[in-house]
Amino acid sequence: NGNTSSNFIKNIMIDDLNSGKHDQIITRFPPEPNGYLHIGHAKSICLNFELADEFNGKTNLRFDDTNPLKEDKEYVKAIKEDVKWLGFEWDGLYFASDYFEEMYNRAILLIKKGKAYVCDLSAEEIREYRGTLTEPGKESPYRNRSVEENLELFERMRKGEFKDGEKVLRAKIDMASPNLNMRDPVIYRISHATHHNTGNKWCIYPMYDFAHPIEDAIEGVTHSICTIEFEDHRPLYDWVVRECEMENQPQQIEFGELGITNTILSKRKLKQLVDEKYVDGWDDPRMPTISGLRRRGYTPESIRNFVRETGVSKTNSVVDVRMLEHFVREDLKLKAPRTMAVLRPLKVVITNYPEDQVEMLEAEINPENPEMGTRNIPFSREIYIEQEDFMENPPKKYHRLFVGNEVRLKHAYFIKCNEVIKDKEGNVVELRCTYDPETKSGTGFTGRKVKGTIHWVDAKHALPAEFRLYDSLILDDEQEEGKSFLERVNPNSLEILQGFIEPNMKDVKPQDKFQFFRHGYFNVDPKYTTKDKIVFNRIVSLKSSFKL
Ligand code: ATP
Ligand code: MG
Ligand code: MG
Repeated sequence: NGNTSSNFIKNIMIDDLNSGKHDQIITRFPPEPNGYLHIGHAKSICLNFELADEFNGKTNLRFDDTNPLKEDKEYVKAIKEDVKWLGFEWDGLYFASDYFEEMYNRAILLIKKGKAYVCDLSAEEIREYRGTLTEPGKESPYRNRSVEENLELFERMRKGEFKDGEKVLRAKIDMASPNLNMRDPVIYRISHATHHNTGNKWCIYPMYDFAHPIEDAIEGVTHSICTIEFEDHRPLYDWVVRECEMENQPQQIEFGELGITNTILSKRKLKQLVDEKYVDGWDDPRMPTISGLRRRGYTPESIRNFVRETGVSKTNSVVDVRMLEHFVREDLKLKAPRTMAVLRPLKVVITNYPEDQVEMLEAEINPENPEMGTRNIPFSREIYIEQEDFMENPPKKYHRLFVGNEVRLKHAYFIKCNEVIKDKEGNVVELRCTYDPETKSGTGFTGRKVKGTIHWVDAKHALPAEFRLYDSLILDDEQEEGKSFLERVNPNSLEILQGFIEPNMKDVKPQDKFQFFRHGYFNVDPKYTTKDKIVFNRIVSLKSSFKL
């Protein structure tokens, strides 16, 4: 961690430490527990934790749980797990809901100062009265209620005497402000709902714009980092800190949100994909959630490196999803053992290989990382190769198997195809080949050359395995006006294949990662793998045209 490259937020922190404005940097990551974290959140997490870390500061994990209808303990648990998995340790663990009493008291203070009032307008009326950018707002008829009346009504709101939406508490600021957020924003609403943390203790809840600055100030957060959409809310943030007479004065700083091509980054929409069963849960390997990326096989390092590379700027940006894939390839290149898997098996009988003979071949686990050592692979008379590595009528530049052609079996021998066996329908079901014992891999045979090298597994000893190959969950089409993003969901984003792996993989564990020769990087799926069947998720294929 640490070592973020220079950026404008870091420069503000350096200035604030040099000027003596602060002697310690305190940041927070403030998720609302209304869904699982996605890779956009990872950006905010890395930024907050890495910046504070760099100055020996502190970072809190704070659940911004002021909206009881959408929040749930399940999300709290998942968020904690994801932050830890990404490699970060929070200093304080807080809930905005633990501050409800203090927030209520600060609201009373505002009322007493004549800076807040209870308003009976409906949500729709409030919107109408607010005006537009070109047109000033209109004052609420309840704006000039006396302090006493406001105190009494607000207390009765808390006691549950009114229905949802019947009354709100509003800050009394300026209905003619050019900033719409300053036109007497609602700061408390009534909601008779059970809260995941406070149960039925409250039926009034603070709005984000009122709650967030108070949460930051209570915790002594020095730099409150948020996304650009809150830039126009900053004057209100500062107003709340000042008028509520908070001791600490946190500074809100906005940065550009991370967007990724072919990727939905909105908890609301991701929840819809889960609820409507487009995917098998928040952790479906096609989801851009942290838990989905984890199950797909992404490593915390690859996500952190990716996020760091996207930089920190003052505008939103959209990066190519292939950049994310690039970082996981980079990370796994030296870490993942290499092995062979046949995804679409075709049986090959080596007719001149003695029946009942089995030999063990030695192969490097990772030629780019020799320290990983070697493994043994059995070889005998019957093997499986990929269906696509044989063609009956090959085009000119096809160098793999066809009748009369010879190829190299990776780590083994040259084999030559002599005969094709078909079933009644005419499908190729088996090949008859011969091998040349002289050509054994590692013996330095130079007698002749072949152009194709293919992978294989021994038929008698191979382990069955399932392979799940993924394509983008979301198609590239720009969203058309009025069209739901659900219409961009790719109907062919998952392909499931039954094949075989080398027998030396019998003890793999969920989340183990491998590079299958020619196929790419795969992760052992933690949800569907059983004692009897290993299920692999393809993380990424091997090649990409992507360049940094
Ligand atoms: P969503 O828009 O997906 O519903 P949110 O922004 O409402 O997410 P919060 O739980 O409120 O989610 O966000 C926690 C933190 O993560 C906030 O500081 C928010 O600005 C930040 N964040 C969310 N999405 C992104 C993103 N795409 N890029 C960078 N930061 C993000
Ligand atoms: Mg939110
Ligand atoms: Mg957002």
